[in-house]
Amino acid sequence: MTSRQSTPLGASAIRQANLREHNLGLVLRLIIDSPVPVSRADIAVATGLTRATVSSLADRLIMASLVTELPPVMSQRAGRPAVPLVPASGTLAAVGMEINVDYLGVRVVDLSGAILGEHVESADFRGSDPVTVMHRLSDLYSHVTESIDGDVRLAGTCLAIPGLVDRMIGPVRMAPNLGWREVDVVKEFHSYPATAGVRIRLDNEATLGARAEADALRPTGTLSFMYLSGEVGIGGALVVDGAVFGGRHGWSGEIGHMVVDPAGPLCRCGSTGCLEQYAGKDALMRSAAMDLDLPVAALISAAEAGNTAALDSLAAGARALGTALANAVNLIDVENVVLGGIYAPLAPFLIPGIEDVLRLRVLSAPWSGLRVCVAEVRDYAALTGAASAVLSDVIDDPSAWLDR
Ligand SMILES: [Zn+2]
Repeated sequence: MTSRQSTPLGASAIRQANLREHNLGLVLRLIIDSPVPVSRADIAVATGLTRATVSSLADRLIMASLVTELPPVMSQRAGRPAVPLVPASGTLAAVGMEINVDYLGVRVVDLSGAILGEHVESADFRGSDPVTVMHRLSDLYSHVTESIDGDVRLAGTCLAIPGLVDRMIGPVRMAPNLGWREVDVVKEFHSYPATAGVRIRLDNEATLGARAEADALRPTGTLSFMYLSGEVGIGGALVVDGAVFGGRHGWSGEIGHMVVDPAGPLCRCGSTGCLEQYAGKDALMRSAAMDLDLPVAALISAAEAGNTAALDSLAAGARALGTALANAVNLIDVENVVLGGIYAPLAPFLIPGIEDVLRLRVLSAPWSGLRVCVAEVRDYAALTGAASAVLSDVIDDPSAWLDR
């Protein structure tokens, strides 16, 4: 350390600079999270910063094309008209990617939440070869990112995986329905020339879906909920005060492998009687005597037509979901359960059965106001959540994106 840095003046200058960067993130976060456009005066009130400080920070964000001004509106107070500030659209974006059991997807989302480009490919990835899948994903990434406006800056990429990921860079520890174990997906993604230098990180699919849902629910005031994402596997995540609770390694929320019946069928995780074996998509289709490759819409049509096997399958699925959720709610005391993935379109057939079990098994049910509802983010929530995870880092520290 040089003597210059250790002088009180140097330390104070560093503190000032840190504070400025911190405040910059604070102002950008407020503009992005606000359900309605905010003015500089609104931000000053909300943050306690002076009007002059807010103006200077807002101007820097506007210069960097992270924030846009809308036409001025007359405020009710006397004085100058207020200029509403909103997140900029089509300037800075992030790429969300997902590998799931029956599809592969890439979605580009900007700071305003607009989808600038996306592509989802259906295929069967049960017991798949990671090298083949990552090659396809690399091609899909190139295809989608090349299709968007060249002026859009990409802040990074996050890949959603239906399994255990304990570090941002991997490896994927285990994705039971893909049949993957200890796969270094980042290294694989970087081995293709088209995606060699792409900044990429990983997270669990349900964790990212829950993040997208938390973003969508924030304006409604629902900040804490249990999120359940139904696909071939079942992912879950607990959101507390707007943030996903990851647990010690980020491995929490594996509700799909909660035990419904120890004497039940063998699960792809190696255990028996897991929730997935009763309420995962394959399990629902199988017990409705339908082809596993059919979309969930086929099951809905059959149920709507009064097909007994389809209705029985959904009733059994709802009972299993209710049982697992009752255990979870008894443990963690959460008021809202949000159904995402295939459970969103299936909700009318599932919610009554789930609620019956919750009423029976949740000790606090008569007093807690427990609600089961359908996710706001319906289509490929993890793709949006993955992009949001990257953008969130930019919002917290926008200083790296100020100089164009
Ligand atoms: Zn299992």
